[in-house]
Amino acid sequence: MKFHVLTFGCQMNAADSGWLGESLKAMGWEESGVDDAQVYIVNTCSVREKPEQKLYSLLGRLAERLESDPDMFCAVGGCVAQQAGVKLWNRFGFVRLVFGTDGIAQVPQALLRLTAEPKLRLSLLDFTQSYVERESALPQAAASPRAFVNIMQGCDNFCAYCIVPYVRGRQKSRRAAAVLHECTALAQSGVKEVTLLGQNVNSYGLDASGDGTSFADLLRAVAAVPGIERIRFTTSHPKDLAGEVIAAFRELPKLCPSLHLPVQSGSDRVLKRMGRKYTSAAYLAKVDALRRACPDISLSTDFIVGFPGETEEDFQDTLALMRRVVFDGSFSFAYCDRPGTASIKMEPKVSDTVKSRRLAELQALQNEQQEAMLQRMIGVRKMVLVDGPGARRGSDDPAWTGRDEAGFVVNFAAPAVPSLAGRIVPVRITQAKKHSLWGEALP
Ligand code: SF4
Repeated sequence: MKFHVLTFGCQMNAADSGWLGESLKAMGWEESGVDDAQVYIVNTCSVREKPEQKLYSLLGRLAERLESDPDMFCAVGGCVAQQAGVKLWNRFGFVRLVFGTDGIAQVPQALLRLTAEPKLRLSLLDFTQSYVERESALPQAAASPRAFVNIMQGCDNFCAYCIVPYVRGRQKSRRAAAVLHECTALAQSGVKEVTLLGQNVNSYGLDASGDGTSFADLLRAVAAVPGIERIRFTTSHPKDLAGEVIAAFRELPKLCPSLHLPVQSGSDRVLKRMGRKYTSAAYLAKVDALRRACPDISLSTDFIVGFPGETEEDFQDTLALMRRVVFDGSFSFAYCDRPGTASIKMEPKVSDTVKSRRLAELQALQNEQQEAMLQRMIGVRKMVLVDGPGARRGSDDPAWTGRDEAGFVVNFAAPAVPSLAGRIVPVRITQAKKHSLWGEALP
């Protein structure tokens, strides 16, 4: 069977799709281009604008091909499938499987059944009480020296603008032994860097599904896995970032000095309406503690501008927080109503014009701070985990590309023999571009 996976959304969705692809290949299926597939798997995301309409237009484009051949079909999973559910069946006859994030473990077997029983349709939308382990589906030799490892599913926080707890269910931690087993297998296949993934990794273990291991304990255990040289994690909720985890940045040399810590707003009034359960002062206290533990830590964040009720003064508080912290990067969005969230009912809404102006102002400040930070890197020695040859190979282009300790892309020239892919190489930065660094390998 030839299959093609289309993925939208976050790193967790990308990791889920990666696992699905490997599982299907382990069953003897063949991954193909979009025009040759017999089975399409669409892994959806509700975070971006108009996700349901986007899915419908994608299915509309696939319809011509799928409706002409009864042996071909489509499976739709992820957050939009969880929301739209069997509505998708009624609209598109070729959608024969809908699955939520808790149903992913059963998807390969469900697809096998569907190929054997052409009239069957299946739904895997139930939420589970605990993390459902998936069968291991790791390639013998890793395609990349970096890998994602899911450590939990779902979220208990119910931030006013977010749909995740409704579509991914309540928080369920994976057992530490399973996480460590996967990290060990990844290291044996050539992976050197793991990113531990979850909606709120800082509350790992604090749910009935966990085995009592705290997130700080898990970090220490992963750091002890032979062959794993670098550890990252995402996403972190500031209110749950424990002192022990902050201390881990000082204590664990393998824990990369970088942290994505979404603040969303610098205004306490807006943070309260968002249901974030911390103040800007509490956030700044954590930033200060992180910088005491790890002076070189690279911090990035998320912002939402124009949340309902956000005044000009609230927005100025956000800019003030940005100036105080100086983030190395940020993802920023203009607030947009999402069906099913609490904030859809909140008033007054901020006009599109004001939202666009505030977003542009915030992004201009972010660009200024990021450019200054990249300029400061010139002359600095970095340790780069090499992904492989650089994309462009002209005479002035770099031969290799990888990421430094903080996660920035570094392109650099170096002799091609032997291959540097998967190695950690010292590089001196010689040039800063808009979003990446360029340098040369050191002996
Ligand atoms: S912490 Fe808040 S924003 Fe993050 S997934 Fe949970 S509810 Fe959504």
